[in-house]
Amino acid sequence: MGIIEARKLIHDYQKIGEDGKVEASYRAVDGVDLDVQPGQFIAVLGHNGSGKSTLAKHLNAILVPTGGTVFVDGMDTKDAEKLNRIRQTAGMVFQNPDNQIVGTVVDEDVGFGPENMGVPTEEIIKRVEESLKTVGMWEYRDHSPNRLSGGQKQRVAIAGVMAMEPKCIVFDEPTAMLDPVGRKEVIRAAQKLNREKNVTIILITHYMEEVIEADRVIVMDQGKILMQGTPREVFSRVEELKEHRLDVPQVTMLAHELKKSGLDIPEGILTVKELADAVERISEQEQKNGN
Ligand code: ADP
Ligand code: MG
Repeated sequence: MGIIEARKLIHDYQKIGEDGKVEASYRAVDGVDLDVQPGQFIAVLGHNGSGKSTLAKHLNAILVPTGGTVFVDGMDTKDAEKLNRIRQTAGMVFQNPDNQIVGTVVDEDVGFGPENMGVPTEEIIKRVEESLKTVGMWEYRDHSPNRLSGGQKQRVAIAGVMAMEPKCIVFDEPTAMLDPVGRKEVIRAAQKLNREKNVTIILITHYMEEVIEADRVIVMDQGKILMQGTPREVFSRVEELKEHRLDVPQVTMLAHELKKSGLDIPEGILTVKELADAVERISEQEQKNGN
């Protein structure tokens, strides 16, 4: 069974009037089916307002479905009794690290989650050390979070989620407020959690370079899944993405334009190296042909 399974998930936001009646209703998620296997790294793309955050909030039962079902590690998010277990299974990291840090010292902050869960002190100490080492913040364990950079704060927030040992972590635009260095640090920490600890990652982002190493990319549009596949499959569909005013990685766009102008370059180029290799093959071929 998947770690996350959504079946025909619908979410309507409702505006309730003073008389308690529904005045207006807005469908933010519209019939989403989603299967995520343990250990996968999934990236979610889409415009502002396409329903990404609403979907994310269903994955650890912050919201409950208006229609359809969400299972987290086999637990139905509508089952109120399972709420704690669901939240421990699927952790969340949000955009603004300042809203996620509660402690006045880094290691205390990271220990807060497991402490709340009733984890024995010795075990907390172990987890705090392991989590901070994984995100590369162990040297800052006795610092005040206030003084840290945005990227460092976000890594402390990630360590705090990791210390609760979730099987899955949903990142909702964790790098949106960070500078390029901070963005890299945070994405590396997420990748490390995925590769070394086998934590399932769902990463919502606007940054293309954060997407190309994912196992699967999901593109949301108006509450629906517009397309999904490997990064190469999705970014091979440049024209379709452009029609929906969605970005593709710069090098993918360049390769696509070169192909359109007549060069024999495959679709779905994701890195500069791939493009350079493709161009080199063409020039070798031309030399062979005596051009
Ligand atoms: P995204 O994360 O892709 O930007 P959201 O899931 O935040 O999209 O929002 C999807 C749609 O739902 C948007 O049109 C947004 O205005 C609306 N929406 C989000 N949160 C609420 C809310 N609490 N109440 C009413 N409408 C909301
Ligand atoms: Mg959002």
